[in-house]
Amino acid sequence: MKKTVKDIDVKGKKALVRCDFNVPMKDGVITDDIRIVSALPTIRYLIDGGAKVILMSHLGRPDGEPKKEFTLAPVAERLSQLLGTEVVFISSDRVVDDKVKEAASDLKDGQVMLLENVRFRKEETKNGADFARELSELGDFFVNDAFGTAHRAHASTAGVADYLPAVSGFLIEKEVKFLGNAVENPKRPFVAIMGGAKVGDKIPVIENLLKKVDTLIIGGGMAYTFFKAQGLEIGTSILDKDNVNLAAVLLEKAAAAGVTILLPVDCVCGREFKNDTEFGIYPKDKIPSDMMGLDIGPETVKVYGKVIKDAATVVWNGPMGVFEMPNFAKGTRAVAEALAESSAVTVIGGGDSAAAVEQFGLADKMTHISTGGGASLEFLEGKVLPGIAVIQDK
Ligand code: AMP
Repeated sequence: MKKTVKDIDVKGKKALVRCDFNVPMKDGVITDDIRIVSALPTIRYLIDGGAKVILMSHLGRPDGEPKKEFTLAPVAERLSQLLGTEVVFISSDRVVDDKVKEAASDLKDGQVMLLENVRFRKEETKNGADFARELSELGDFFVNDAFGTAHRAHASTAGVADYLPAVSGFLIEKEVKFLGNAVENPKRPFVAIMGGAKVGDKIPVIENLLKKVDTLIIGGGMAYTFFKAQGLEIGTSILDKDNVNLAAVLLEKAAAAGVTILLPVDCVCGREFKNDTEFGIYPKDKIPSDMMGLDIGPETVKVYGKVIKDAATVVWNGPMGVFEMPNFAKGTRAVAEALAESSAVTVIGGGDSAAAVEQFGLADKMTHISTGGGASLEFLEGKVLPGIAVIQDK
């Protein structure tokens, strides 16, 4: 168990908090503030506890340069509105300078300040020790609440913990609780659903999950690489040529471990990779040579739905088809609905499956939706995330 802000005395102390304020922006205006809203519980807890709160985050990819279009000024403004209190913001090209240090040391208990985009400094993504020390000198303890960057060893996500005691905020606490419990201590039957286009990216996850799950459901573009490994014809479906052999090995490993791997039994195939193309439903062994599989078919939906219904824990990562195109979104929607109706603990990995669940309006029916795409995948791979490893154990 990792320490959280609740495990330490925060009153009168300077809390250096890493948030994920990497919000989508258009022409300097925030188009979706969910990441700021999600960070509020930890910030409010610290304010109410009488800490002096110093927030840091990255925004976009300024590549180590102080580029004005990536300033966190709009975030400071939005945060002030949401908190109903002033958020001190000093835009410094160096993130930390004398003015910033002075403002930080002038903070009163319960006051909040936001630093400029930490990626204005090249040292941030290189985990430069000097920058980490400069940041750490602003605080008395470090709170990591940015799960989306927890898989990166950057100065503001991990480096600062070389100089300050580190605890987690409520967002990371929740991610560790649900993702961690699902993988390490699942109620059984434990079912993992993997989808998406690239098998290559998901192989380490599949390998790790094969050691843990009772059933592994495969859908999306990666299914065709497994079909190829089984000697089936896949028409013009997406194929990860380099990983066909590995797919065969994974099928063998699953069999040896007594894990059931479910592949689609039918597919919705289209002539071209676009929504308004001619399409039809074909059994997996009758995919026409001039068509591509773009979604799981209705028979597959039935099989997968039944397995999900009987599961006690389900982890889902990656869409079942090209869900961005309405004609090929039915399989992904059906799986999302099956999860929503299930009484199992349902954990959705970040990225596309999270986006799909939101798109279908089913987000509040899931036990947990991870906020980090890459971070949740690495978690499911069983890797130690640097931004979590630095947090003190209870
Ligand atoms: P990934 O980044 O590997 O999780 O892949 C997500 C992407 O996979 C989404 O944009 C989907 O549109 C895409 N995808 C899912 N199924 C297929 C398919 N059968 N053929 C091509 N792309 C797919």
